[in-house]
Formats: sequence, C-alpha cells, structure tokens
Amino acid sequence: MGRSDTLLKTLIIGSGPAGLAAALYAARANLDPVILSGTELGGQVSLTYSIENYPGFPDGIGGQELVEAFQIQAEMFGARIVFDSAVKVDLIRRPFLIETYKEKYLTKTLIIATGATPNHLEVPGETAYTGKGVSYCATCDGHFFKGKKVVIVGGGDSALEEGLFLTRYVDKISIIHRRDKLRASILLQKRAFANKKIDFIWDTIVTEIKGDNVVKSICLRNNKTGKLQEFETDGVFIFIGHHPNTELFKEQIERDNLGYIIVDRFMRTNISGVYSAGEVADPHYRQVITSAGMGASAAMQAIHYLEENPD
Ligand code: NAP
Repeated sequence: MGRSDTLLKTLIIGSGPAGLAAALYAARANLDPVILSGTELGGQVSLTYSIENYPGFPDGIGGQELVEAFQIQAEMFGARIVFDSAVKVDLIRRPFLIETYKEKYLTKTLIIATGATPNHLEVPGETAYTGKGVSYCATCDGHFFKGKKVVIVGGGDSALEEGLFLTRYVDKISIIHRRDKLRASILLQKRAFANKKIDFIWDTIVTEIKGDNVVKSICLRNNKTGKLQEFETDGVFIFIGHHPNTELFKEQIERDNLGYIIVDRFMRTNISGVYSAGEVADPHYRQVITSAGMGASAAMQAIHYLEENPD
C-alpha cells in the first residue's frame, strides 16, 4: 500500500480539520483514504490552547484534544494517516502522481488541505532570533516567558487571542499595531482592553529585532509621527496573518492573486477529480468549523466523482 504500483481512490494532503474531516467522510464511504500528515498532525489547530467556538463543546476544547478526536474517528472507519509530506505532484497525468519524502502514490482523486503558514515581519533580526525570543506560537512557547515582558505584533483575532493566553505566564504584554483600530472581533477586544497585563502601542511598526544570544529589544517607528524608539522586551510574538501553502501546486492548480486555491462551492478546483478544502482555499472564514465543513464537502464530491468515473 502506498507504493507507486498501488492505486488509491483518494489521497488527502494535510491533516488539519479540513483533511481529517475529509478523511472521515471518505473512510465511511470505503474509499480507504491515505492522509499525508505534513509536518504537524492537526496543523495550526493543534497549536491552539483552547477552542471556544467549535459547536458541541460549550466549555471549550484543547486544540490537541480536538485533533486527537478527529484522528481517532477517521481511523476508526479505516483512514490511514501517514507521517510524511508531499514534495512533488503531477496532476496532468491520470491517475494523479504524488511523491513524498518516502514514497510515490497514484490516486484517482486528490483532496488538497495543506492549510496556511504564519506570515513573517521580514525585518532584520527576525530569523536570527526565531526560537531565541521570537515566536509565532504562544501555546508552544508561552511557558518560556514566565514573569517576563513581551510584545505582540498584530491587531487581528490571533494577536489578541494569543495575547490573552500569554497573560497566564508573562507579567506584561504590549500589543504593537500598525493602525489605531484593531481588526480583531469585539469580544476579544473587550477582553484584551479589560486585562491589566495588556497595553497597546498604536500606529507603530517594528523595524528591527535586537539582542545578544536572545532578544533584548526592538526598534519601533510611529507611522503617524515618524518617531523612532528602542523598546526593551524579552520576547516578540508575531501574529500578522497567514499565507496559503500552495507552492507545490502553483503551476498546475488555479489560485487567486493571494495564492489561495480557487474552488467552486463544491470544493472543485480547475482539475476534475482534485478538490481543495480549509484555509488553503479559504481566505475569508478560516475557522475550524468552516474548514471541517469544506473537508466533508470535498470528500462527498470525491465520492460522486468516483461513482461517475468507476474505471
Ligand atoms: P488577520 O485577521 O489577517 O490579522 C492580521 C493582523 O496583522 C492585522 O491586524 C494586520 O494589520 C496586521 N499585519 C499584517 N501584516 C502586517 C505587517 N507586515 N506588519 C504589521 N502588522 C501587520 O490574521 P489573524 O489574526 O491571524 O486571523 C486570521 C483569520 O483567523 C481571521 O479570519 C480570524 O478571524 C481567524 N481567527 C479567528 C479566531 C477566533 O475566532 N477565535 C482566532 C484566531 C484567528 P491591519 O489590521 O492593519 O491589516
């Protein structure tokens, strides 16, 4: 199974909510799906401390816990999760050919659920201090900053949600936003404004991250006044949006001007038999519930396709 001489009915690339929901539906329809997990089983959601808006869990549920439940349910019906990543695809030939680090797969249908990756600030010091004070995940790194003073860059839901999470460890958080109005939901804004550990630095961008072995300070520029200042901090958490993981498909699948895979409301891409679901194809909602829904739809379409194209 999984060798180039084995023909799959469905291969799913990505194991976030979209990929695992697609796996569940495909497995229940006896498509024996193989899921390539990518580097992180569960994708971004597995790095989320608590999810409060996934229906059925009124007290919230841990991201890792939800992923495990998705995984167990999909595997219970015969889905096979492989800890590997796709490195090359040929969607011109049929069946489609997917190469991973370890194997080659031929598949009649493909579901692309590769998700999105956090954007970088792209300022001096960012790469050098990643893991030494610069982080893109509060759940992963928050405990390293117990009793310390950190900054968060960004003004969206992620910045505020992760900031609120960090208050359980750090003494002080300054949220640095490039405008004077947040993009985040009103509920999160209310919580952040009410939290005594959080303050805001408005209309400001980070131009450099400095330190010795670890982060010590950042250089800031006020967008309105042009004023420059150096600001001491132990950590820099960056939450400035994401970009879709579509590099692998760019010559073969139609994408929009931001790189998101274009799907119709049946999750169909421009190639028949290839579907896409979750954040890789959704610049708008990007929720666990919407991604899972897209994954289920993609799998149902793959089922129809295989019924209509039995050979
Ligand atoms: P986002 O909504 O795109 O917000 C990105 C933030 O970063 C914006 O405030 C943006 O500023 C700022 N930004 C972008 N590029 C920047 C740069 N180069 N330098 C400085 N600041 C920059 O991203 P997100 O917060 O990751 O959220 C992504 C999606 O996930 C959203 O749809 C969000 O609703 C969803 N989400 C939902 C929840 C939840 O429901 N609890 C939690 C997390 C995320 P501007 O505002 O000026 O553009």
